[in-house]
Amino acid sequence: MEYQSKINELYKDMTLCIRGVVLKDGPLKNHTYFKIGGPAAIFAEPEDTDDLKTVLKLIKKHSVDCFIIGNGTNLLVSDNGYKGAVVKIGEKFNYMSKNDNNVTVGAGVLLSVLAKVLAREGLAGFEFASGIPGFLGGAVYMNAGAYGGEMKDVVKNVKCMDFNGKIYEFTNEDMEFIYRHSKISDSDLIVLEAELELPYGNKDEIMNKIKELNEKRKTKQPLDMPSAGSTFKRPANGYASKLIEDAGLKGLKYKGAMVSDKHSGFVVNWDNASCEDVLELMRIVISTVNDKSGIILEPEIKIVGTEL
Ligand SMILES: Cc1cc2nc3c(=O)[nH]c(=O)nc-3n(C[C@H](O)[C@H](O)[C@H](O)COP(=O)(O)OP(=O)(O)OC[C@H]3O[C@@H](n4cnc5c(N)ncnc54)[C@H](O)[C@@H]3O)c2cc1C
Repeated sequence: MEYQSKINELYKDMTLCIRGVVLKDGPLKNHTYFKIGGPAAIFAEPEDTDDLKTVLKLIKKHSVDCFIIGNGTNLLVSDNGYKGAVVKIGEKFNYMSKNDNNVTVGAGVLLSVLAKVLAREGLAGFEFASGIPGFLGGAVYMNAGAYGGEMKDVVKNVKCMDFNGKIYEFTNEDMEFIYRHSKISDSDLIVLEAELELPYGNKDEIMNKIKELNEKRKTKQPLDMPSAGSTFKRPANGYASKLIEDAGLKGLKYKGAMVSDKHSGFVVNWDNASCEDVLELMRIVISTVNDKSGIILEPEIKIVGTEL
C-alpha cells in the first residue's frame, strides 16, 4: 500500500480507537524547545498507558514510522516535519508516588518539578537534574546529566512498553547507561516510568544546592533563547564549548542560527532559524573545529526527519 494511504488508514483508526489527542499534520515547532520543525503526518498524545498501548499497536499494524517525544528539549526537527507518527509522552504521564526513599515517577514528569518535590521530601542526589528542562522519560532515554550527576546514579528500575503493548522492567544494570545513552536509545521501547532510589539528606542543603546550580546555569547558559541544550557531545578529552571557542566560532551566525555568544556549546535560534540554518551552522562548526584541532564533534541533539 502507498505510504500516504497507510497514514490515512492509521489516522482513521486512531481517531476511532484512542481517547487522547490525534492530529493530522500537527506542527512540531510547538513541541520543541528550539521552536523549529514542520508538521508530523500524525501527532498523537495518548491519555494513559492503555491508550498508549492502542496507539503503538495501531502504528505497528499499519507499518508507519514512529518517533516518540517527551518535552522536545533535545530535538532538532526538519523543516519538512516527520513523515510518520509522532507520539508525545507528556503531561498525561505526570504522576509520582513515594515509598520511603523509593519514588516511582511517570515519564511525563518535568525534572525541575521532580527535583523540588524530592527536595521537600528531604531526598538528596537529584539536585543535578533540577535545571534540565526535559521530562523523566527523555532523561532516562538520554541518561541526562549535569554537574557531576546523571540519571544512572539515581535510577533503580525502569518500566517500558514495546509496540505489541508488552511491558518490560529493567534494573539499573540492565539499562546499560553510558554518557548520554541508554539501552532504550538503541531500542523500540517507550519509557513509561522509573523508580528512583535516593538517600535522605538535609532539606536546606538540598534546596541550597538546587539554587546554586540553577544560578550557575543562568549565568553560563543562554536560557533566554530557544535551543536544544548542548549541541555537541563532550569529546574524549575536553569540552566541545572550549574547542568551538578556541576555533573562533563563539557568536558566529548563519541566517537565523547562532553559536551562542554566552556559551559556545549551544547553537541557538536567535531569529526564526530554520532547521537547515541550524544544520548548516553545525556543519561549519564541525569542519572548522576539525581543521583547527583534529577533533570531530558529534551531535548530542537528536535530529529528526532529516540528516546532518
Ligand atoms: C536549555 C537546555 C539545557 C539543557 N541542559 C541539559 C543538561 O544539563 N544535561 C543534559 O543531559 N541535557 C540537557 N539538555 C537536553 C535535554 O533537556 C535532555 O536531553 C532531556 O533529558 C531530554 O528530555 P525530553 O523529555 O525533552 O526529551 P525529548 O527531547 O523529547 O527526546 C529526547 C530523546 O528521548 C526520546 N524519548 C523521549 N521520551 C521518551 C520516552 N518516554 N520513551 C522513550 N524515548 C523517549 C526521544 O525519542 C528522543 O530520542 C538541555 C536542553 C536545553 C534546551
